[in-house]
Amino acid sequence: MEIACLDLEGVLIPEIWIAFAEKTGIDELRATTRDIPDYDVLMRQRLALLDQHGLGLNEIQEVIETLSPLEGAVEFVDWLRERFQVVILSDTFYEFSQPLMRQLGFPTLLCHKLEVDKNGKVVDYKLRQVNPKRQAVLALKTLYYRIIAAGDSYNDTTMLAEADAGILFMAPDNVIAEFPQFPAVHSYDDLKREFIKASNRELTL
Ligand SMILES: [Mg+2]
Repeated sequence: MEIACLDLEGVLIPEIWIAFAEKTGIDELRATTRDIPDYDVLMRQRLALLDQHGLGLNEIQEVIETLSPLEGAVEFVDWLRERFQVVILSDTFYEFSQPLMRQLGFPTLLCHKLEVDKNGKVVDYKLRQVNPKRQAVLALKTLYYRIIAAGDSYNDTTMLAEADAGILFMAPDNVIAEFPQFPAVHSYDDLKREFIKASNRELTL
């Protein structure tokens, strides 16, 4: 059997921190790992900004409630789940993803966790494990599943490489240029075709 492993942000839903920065007008929250490559430094800055602006988990979730999956994402996930077991491998946090996962019908999600105090202040974060996306693919392979993975960015490339087939979806040009070994597509219809191509079964659109 085959499992489809999907990245979440940029593939099925908007980038949560960027959307949150836009909704709140706090421009410094737009920073991503492209601006600050050290994830811990980036997260410490984000937590400090939340604290400084008096934003706790409740306020963040209220903003996230107003977001929707990318256009066509819900239909794509439904299509995929009829043909594969689907697991979402993400670097987001369970506490952020909930409203958007509800709209996607709660497919299985492996991601990180926030630590929140009794007043709703985000005090810390806990990574699920080091190199979490690749490790998840590795673990599923020990169960003798074939893995087809899709993602949009640098933090997906070790997952794509570990999978039996990897696909770049809506990736920026620099990622596509750096990883020419992966097919790169920009629409859900083309992504479906890549999954069909990568499958070892006779699937149809
Ligand atoms: Mg992404």
